[in-house]
Amino acid sequence: MGTPESLTFLGAVGTVTGSKTLVTVGDRRILVDAGMFQGEKQWRRRNWDPFPVPPAELSDVVLTHAHMDHCGFLPALVRGGFSGPVWCTEGTKQLATIVLRDAGFLAEREAQDAAEGGWSRHDPPLPIYTAEDVERSLPLLTEVRYDADADLGDGLGLRFTRAGHILGSASVTLTTPSTSVLFSGDLGRHDHPVLRPRDTPSGAAYVLVESTYGDREHPEPVNLPHEDLADVIRRTVARDGSVLVPAFAIDRTEVVLRVLAQLRQDGRIPTVPIYVNSPMASAALEVYRRAHDELRPDLDLDDFARLDNVHEVRSAEESMALTQGRHRAPHIVVTSSGMASGGRVLHHLERMLPDPRNSVVLTGFQGAGTRGRALLEGATQLKFHGAYVPVRAEIVHDREFSVHADASDLLDWLRDLRPAPRTVFVVHGEPDSAQALAARIHGELGLVAAVPAYGEKVVLTAAPPPADPREANRGGIPERGASRPVATAAAVSAGTSGAATLVFLGVQEPRDGSGRAVAGSFEAQAAAVLDRIGSLAQATGGDLTSLVRLGAYLRDGEGYAVRLAIWHRLIAARLGDAAPALTVSPVSHEELPTGVEVLADAVVRPRAWTAISIG
Ligand SMILES: [Zn+2]
Repeated sequence: MGTPESLTFLGAVGTVTGSKTLVTVGDRRILVDAGMFQGEKQWRRRNWDPFPVPPAELSDVVLTHAHMDHCGFLPALVRGGFSGPVWCTEGTKQLATIVLRDAGFLAEREAQDAAEGGWSRHDPPLPIYTAEDVERSLPLLTEVRYDADADLGDGLGLRFTRAGHILGSASVTLTTPSTSVLFSGDLGRHDHPVLRPRDTPSGAAYVLVESTYGDREHPEPVNLPHEDLADVIRRTVARDGSVLVPAFAIDRTEVVLRVLAQLRQDGRIPTVPIYVNSPMASAALEVYRRAHDELRPDLDLDDFARLDNVHEVRSAEESMALTQGRHRAPHIVVTSSGMASGGRVLHHLERMLPDPRNSVVLTGFQGAGTRGRALLEGATQLKFHGAYVPVRAEIVHDREFSVHADASDLLDWLRDLRPAPRTVFVVHGEPDSAQALAARIHGELGLVAAVPAYGEKVVLTAAPPPADPREANRGGIPERGASRPVATAAAVSAGTSGAATLVFLGVQEPRDGSGRAVAGSFEAQAAAVLDRIGSLAQATGGDLTSLVRLGAYLRDGEGYAVRLAIWHRLIAARLGDAAPALTVSPVSHEELPTGVEVLADAVVRPRAWTAISIG
């Protein structure tokens, strides 16, 4: 037998950006998503780190959709030597072409600005990739139809299922010779205003689920849908002002146009000209116009893509005429970027913000440090092109524009999978979101749910799936349940296997009358066990970091994910700044070293251990 099949989490863990998961099967190295880290510097810096696998050794890339944080790193891989196929849907291929060309252009311009400003770490400043790298990447994009089984050779199969997030977005099922892995990708809400809704993929043994809104529910509109938007448009037009709507170029522009069309059709806003001023948004709109199969069956193109009052601004001259205010009558401008972080929106804001008759409607999440966030937080002036401009226009936030599933949607998606997953990995969320969703998956669906760490590797095994816990009426751990006296015992055994010290951890918790663990007791016990290992390490002249492997007794069932997360947290806290990546893999009982010194009050004889490796 060769190396076991495995998953390695290389992005979108602890953050919503940089999606990348490596699947290793025999000689094949398949990277699912090649996303760019974005946002805070600690993450963006990782884009420049040497890639954990030499890109030339990757055999395939699979893309779930065309957002930058899922496809934007591809040209960097190609620059580094990757030349294999990039599997994606037709819609993703078309949108990724637009997104990556824009990214190549911006990367080169940034490097040039850095050279002129003299503030780059590199000398001379280098772009992360060039327009040429992008052009070398595009021919690798290889279309696969939705719901069709693609044979990737070596016993590997691939299937895309509609995800309803943006055009072309998909969940991906990868079948390997011994098992199957389902990647949710980004999931849309149950109802996308423009696109066909998501479909339910068939279940897989291992499932990765996104958790962008893992701790939130989208509010149901208390009023008519998008009434805040309708209201501000009415007010603004009545006072002879204009409305600026910064929107993400891909998908958000289409949804905004759809909503504006609906409001006009329902007579809730007056008919005024709408200008779409973003070359990228126009290009994406063209893709949406042609993609009949992807659109809601009840939608007419005239409902959003061919509105008679919409004018797409094509040339720089036209854009300048608009931003310089030569269109005096009230109008609506839809432009990118969505967080007002760059692009043509800056010229519009500079002109429109000082006039109290105008309004700016923010349509989505506004990241820390962006002008969009500043406006949201009530900034009274903003700096554009080196000079301050007063903010006198009305600022409104329409929170109904989201194309991410909320926590209940995510649970629904998991609940519908048949057969049930053996293990769910919660990814693509801020830490609180991911933990909250994992707790709900475990608590409400009874599934094993783990929040992986950056760099964590998981071995994929062919074991048959357990009985579906979602169907059963669960309670406690049966064979250690009510019949057993309430026990408080920590089992720690330590031994030496080659150069590696092995420490196995086991905790038995106090149980109540019905056999359920007493809340909070596990954590206290686990902390006590780690303290004992700490003194053991001191006594033997080492420290925790010298213990190469820790084995925690964790049953592959109830409480697994929660307990694993607790071990992770406690170990990481004790290691402090030196906290390395922790990886998890199952270890059979037979692997227990001989000559183990039993330090605990009671010995637990588990059927299986989980090894937490510190690497
Ligand atoms: Zn996305």
